Amino acid sequence: MEQSLHVYNSMTGKKELFEPLTAGFIGMYVCGPTVYSDVHLGNCRTFVNFDTLYRYLLHLGYKVRYVRNITDVGHLVGDVDTGAEDKMAKKARLEQLEPMEVAQKYTVGFHDMMRLFNTKSPSIEPRATGHILEQIEMVQDIIDNGYGYVKNGSVYFNTRKLVEEGKGYGDLSGRKIEDLLSETRSDLKNQSEKEHPSDFAIWIKADENHLMRWNSPWSVGFPGWHLECSAMSTKYLGKHFDIHGGGNDLKFPHHENEIAQNIGACSCAPAKYWLHTNMLLMNGKKMSKSDGNSITPTELITGDSHHISKGFHPMVIRFFMIQSHYRSTLDLTDEALLAAEKGFKRLMDANRALNGLQSTTESGALDADIRDTIQAAFAEMNDDFNTPKALARLFEIVPKINSLKEGKIKMDQVGAAALADLKACFHAFIFDIFGLEDQAESGSSTGAKALGGVMDLVIDIRKQARADKDWATSDKIRDSLKEAGVQIKDSKEGAEWELI
Ligand code: AMP
Ligand code: ZN
Repeated sequence: MEQSLHVYNSMTGKKELFEPLTAGFIGMYVCGPTVYSDVHLGNCRTFVNFDTLYRYLLHLGYKVRYVRNITDVGHLVGDVDTGAEDKMAKKARLEQLEPMEVAQKYTVGFHDMMRLFNTKSPSIEPRATGHILEQIEMVQDIIDNGYGYVKNGSVYFNTRKLVEEGKGYGDLSGRKIEDLLSETRSDLKNQSEKEHPSDFAIWIKADENHLMRWNSPWSVGFPGWHLECSAMSTKYLGKHFDIHGGGNDLKFPHHENEIAQNIGACSCAPAKYWLHTNMLLMNGKKMSKSDGNSITPTELITGDSHHISKGFHPMVIRFFMIQSHYRSTLDLTDEALLAAEKGFKRLMDANRALNGLQSTTESGALDADIRDTIQAAFAEMNDDFNTPKALARLFEIVPKINSLKEGKIKMDQVGAAALADLKACFHAFIFDIFGLEDQAESGSSTGAKALGGVMDLVIDIRKQARADKDWATSDKIRDSLKEAGVQIKDSKEGAEWELI
């Protein structure tokens, strides 16, 4: 597919031609979850989006090293007034667990959820606590290069020096250092230790109650949250790599501080392209536990929530996520999910119908249309991974597939080569790029697959009975299936079935 990929770079605010630093290879770092509680749906959206991007890059033939970290130390709650506490340590204290037990519990839960949504594992999934040495070395480099200063055992990054040298602090988030004077919330218990309010801690001296602590040249303490991503991306992808991603709530301070640290330690910004996903909303408002405006991934799947009328299959939820562009907000509503469920089924039915088609000719009148659709779908993906528009292109051809299946359009209208290309295109998009699974065909069980096959057969027999005006057999099949928990619905396009 000789089309060139363009990506929206948050750093420049423009869509740019994507050119990897090394031809054929891509290094991609995505900020992973902080494993102090169950992964929430917003996190899932971000990771499903990056999974789709990753899958597309793989589809284009790139060799991708995808690094997504696990934050298990350093992410603080609270601010100067209340006294900051590590999220992991707080949870460990409340649940009377070792911090490592907390990390393990929620990492396993996170992986389970990622598997349900059929996301591919990253190439490397480094943990912050496994890279304390690298973080200490980075702090030392920052100090040696004059960008860090030590106060009472804690180490701070000197943001003013960066700005004075014209190296930029605030370029990614568009914030000015003067504004940060009033805005910045400190990670610290004692703000007065900082020389400038926009400075931030890269090493924090632990007080005697702090559970997670390591020896360092400056104090027994722990690394600042932003440091892990700088240290681990540098270790596994080098000082300068292709893509850095995360949710757009991380632009400031997290990514801004990462850039500062990398410049301070390695003299260059870490990534060539910064990609940020937008937030998940519910009923038009930010999803928030404290407002009661939230739903867990499990509740969404089981239907155990007053926000939704029923449970939704993880693949329907993934389809729902793909229906919006990664840079747009996504509003989760019951109606939108019900519509996604219908759309998902329509796409899967069309794909199965497509696979059943056999061409009778070498070329046909529909070939040009088919080729245009394929071309257009890939062009949409090459335009900053526009999944909703690519999906819309696939749906444009669905009525034709259905008409071919029903014989309303004769098979001599489609050439064998065009039909093969269309089958390959649907397969590539649905399974490889969008990462969907056909519930009827795969499911987790071979039982689901068998049921799909049996139902195709039964529907065929019933179709024949109806054609023969054998209403008794046709009704018997419908009624017996209903008793067995399968509903048959007749429509213009033929009979469909679903479990009831
Ligand atoms: P955290 O576990 O809070 O460190 O977040 C992990 C990832 O999920 C980060 O990339 C966040 O930007 C992203 N994220 C957090 N909340 C949301 C949300 N409501 N919608 C989309 N992504 C989110
Ligand atoms: Zn990060």
